[in-house]
Amino acid sequence: MRCIDRLRKMPYSLQRPLRRVYGALPPSLAYGGTFWKTYDFLRESQYWSREKLEEYQLERLGGLLHHAYDNVPYYRRIFDERGMKPGDIQSLQDLRRLPCLTKDKFRESFAALVATNSNAAGLPMAHTSGTSGKHLAIYRDCAAVQQELACVFHQWSRVGFMPGDRRVEIRGIMIRSRKRYEYDRAFRALRLSPLIEDVDTAGYYLRLIGDFRADFLHGYPSAIAQLAEFVRQYGLAVPFRLKAVLLASEVVYGWQRKIVEDVFSCRVCGLYGMAEQVTMAGECESSSHYHCLPQYGITEVDAESGEIVGTGFLNYVSPLIRYRTDDIASDIVAERDCCGREYYPVFRQVEGRVGDYIATSRGLFGPATITHYFKKLNHVRETQLIQSDLDRIVVRVVPRGGAGDGARAEELERLRRDLLENLGPHLHVEIEEVDELERTASGKFKWIVSDVSGDILEERFSVGAPAAGPSMVNRAGPGVRDLI
Ligand SMILES: [Zn+2]
Repeated sequence: MRCIDRLRKMPYSLQRPLRRVYGALPPSLAYGGTFWKTYDFLRESQYWSREKLEEYQLERLGGLLHHAYDNVPYYRRIFDERGMKPGDIQSLQDLRRLPCLTKDKFRESFAALVATNSNAAGLPMAHTSGTSGKHLAIYRDCAAVQQELACVFHQWSRVGFMPGDRRVEIRGIMIRSRKRYEYDRAFRALRLSPLIEDVDTAGYYLRLIGDFRADFLHGYPSAIAQLAEFVRQYGLAVPFRLKAVLLASEVVYGWQRKIVEDVFSCRVCGLYGMAEQVTMAGECESSSHYHCLPQYGITEVDAESGEIVGTGFLNYVSPLIRYRTDDIASDIVAERDCCGREYYPVFRQVEGRVGDYIATSRGLFGPATITHYFKKLNHVRETQLIQSDLDRIVVRVVPRGGAGDGARAEELERLRRDLLENLGPHLHVEIEEVDELERTASGKFKWIVSDVSGDILEERFSVGAPAAGPSMVNRAGPGVRDLI
């Protein structure tokens, strides 16, 4: 009964009264023993030395590897094929002797990756989302759910969030009914649909948030930035004061952070995590750099591509070891002077998934580069880039109401020329005006959807790479420590 995820699987008629009971409980009882054990441990260990954190990681890794060898057929085979035993991994560097696990491999070997000593059939599943249709689902047990929540709340505590605090969420559900919200009593969260298509909806949301009297707004950067855009464009009044905006689940672009900070006049705090639970990273009190949580798992960053590779300590039902996330960490921060935590690695931002890159004959272009050409647009409300092959990009735009067609056409033609000039003259750039942009089933938005960049990166980094995958480094300051 302590696992809130089990509750989510129940029929809604049963969920409602149970959620009411949860909501009435004080946080000390509602979140469960594993939550509090993890939360207290994170508070206690957050200022441990690098050596002590590494020692802890090695101990957790040992437990995970023994479990994987004894109970997970896929990993038993991986060890056997190499003539290795878990005891052969004596250091974090030794972990590199095991191969990386790609998403395709995970999908292919799904059943063999489930621990035989777990009662997986009765467990809830966490789903990843993606506009490319490559969805993944993974089992999670109650302990992993509670530990995950404790890690998220630990990250949010940097900006004053306490377990039990109320928050408004703009994420996760697409409610198309007139009401457009639901109240989750168990989590004390007012949940709003992330699709904000007009100024009336924006005004309605502002009133709902004000009436709910929450100190924290949590959700997709695309949706919260959209709300902020409407506030700015139409001069809407903001009838509340927030302690922080907590962004999650999508890449955070600089312009989104800026407009949200300006409009809501509060700290904006990003969190990076995933349903597969292999790594988690968040900002600290005094810096917007993403600090990976060493107590959560081991995070490696590919030296060449910057891809994040993680080994998670939480999930014992489907353990993932050296899992390739497809996410790119940009600008590893070796020297830092912020909060005193020795968390590692630390990076400036998550640049996007490999599919978030545009690949042309001139090279790979990340969102931070491309977004530059879109900054000057005044007559469109939203944009999205779709790349189906190497020499063709479709830019979808949602026109902003009130602008003259002529001015918009002129602006879009300038954008087209800018893209050609910078991404490659042989590119075919098509502009398409639409009423609404493509989102995932949960309303998540991807700005760049490229069917080709993933394959190109895959090719580039797998050719000639050693059996253990591309060279990985785990960088942390001071200095760079190579895991090879
Ligand atoms: Zn810090």
